[in-house]
Amino acid sequence: MKSKKFSRREFIKTAGLAAPVFGLINQSGIAQEPGQRPGRAPAVKVINPQNRVPVSLIIDDSTCLVNMAHFGIPQFAEIFPDRYKQNWKALPREIPDTFVRKFGEWCHEQGVKGKYSIVPYPACVGWLDRVLPGWSKKELEDSLELVRTLILPNWDIHPEMISHTRIIDTKTGRPFAAANEYFMENWRWTDGKSVDELADYMRYALQILKNVGLPCEGITTPGGFGNRVLPELAQATLQSCRDVFGAEIPHYFRHLFTDETSVAPRVEYASGLDSTDPRCVVSIIGCTGDWFGGWDGLEKGSVDKLITADGQGGHLPEIIHRGEPAIMVCHWPGIYFNGDEVGFNIFKEAVKRLHAHYHNLIWMKLSEISRYWAAKELTQITIQQDKIRLNAPFAAPRFTIEMSQKNVKKISFIQKSTAKPLVRVENPQDLNADHWILQKDRLQICFNLPKGASELKLLPEILK
Ligand SMILES: [Zn+2]
Repeated sequence: MKSKKFSRREFIKTAGLAAPVFGLINQSGIAQEPGQRPGRAPAVKVINPQNRVPVSLIIDDSTCLVNMAHFGIPQFAEIFPDRYKQNWKALPREIPDTFVRKFGEWCHEQGVKGKYSIVPYPACVGWLDRVLPGWSKKELEDSLELVRTLILPNWDIHPEMISHTRIIDTKTGRPFAAANEYFMENWRWTDGKSVDELADYMRYALQILKNVGLPCEGITTPGGFGNRVLPELAQATLQSCRDVFGAEIPHYFRHLFTDETSVAPRVEYASGLDSTDPRCVVSIIGCTGDWFGGWDGLEKGSVDKLITADGQGGHLPEIIHRGEPAIMVCHWPGIYFNGDEVGFNIFKEAVKRLHAHYHNLIWMKLSEISRYWAAKELTQITIQQDKIRLNAPFAAPRFTIEMSQKNVKKISFIQKSTAKPLVRVENPQDLNADHWILQKDRLQICFNLPKGASELKLLPEILK
């Protein structure tokens, strides 16, 4: 849920001014430490998985049953009466599970993957691990079961903090008495908070989802949460997702850019790469605004803004041509659009156009993208005579490298002295794990990268 004045984009612009000046600062004002980076033979380039472009859909403000717009708007209006004039009483209080099923099944058929928020104490209406006043115990249980069985396989589940509205006192579980922007998750509460304070808050949110059997490897920031404490936000995500779920590669969604700024994921706070306990956190970056149905389910978007009917215009083709992950961003109330499904219809048409015009796409969950980028950035790669040696702190399926070579005849993958020959393919469409392709002098090799040491042996010897 994003207020008009404080869009994610604007937060990012202003965040740079307030952020402590250290680490990686680019023109976008993102000030997180990249951390450690390994040595890398310049001749070897890690490219996208299977040399395809990742696509994904981020869904914010979803939860079980509760329409976050209906229940959230009056709480936002209490803080900023001028900004929230929507007739919230006219909005349905529920986004029904029949719609979750319809949406989830359609996405499943299309192979769509992404992130689906589950706000654990949605707008302070009730606790997903206890009781949701306004719905029966069975309705809540059925709703959670639907998320576990239909959504979880292809979507990362994130808490969008605890309530997405009021700040909760994690010692008592009650909202603080003060109702102002310093006690709302969307706005200023995080100002000046330490890593430990933020991690405590995140753990509380994550634990509720753990209680209802929904594993998480990442978090989504509600509105402006963490906006002025970006380094602390990244580190608190790393800490809390590890603490509660033992997540190997925690990730978070805080930023989106719709201009020329890179939307490639950022691998941050990498450490211990040579140890048995490597660590990092990945910042996943969206490439669209909510061009579907708005956070309140009242703003009709436009499919042409995403991708035009001829597949050439719109923002997604630009990102796809750049080769960066095309991660769309929407809000659940806008997908449902109070029963009119405006956002859903826009998404369906966008997917249809994407699939009609691009055959080099790969739908991925945010955790899959995070894992790939962590391996891409943090795997040590060296060349020794006829071998490419890899030392990976994190495993990654369909890891794909590219180098300039002319006369390769055979490639084997070697791990723990067991060699496996890889299969040569001629058609780029067939490049998958355990395959390689040589087009002119461009050699691409795709394999499941294991954690630890492994090697690729090329015959004849690698041309340096
Ligand atoms: Zn939100």
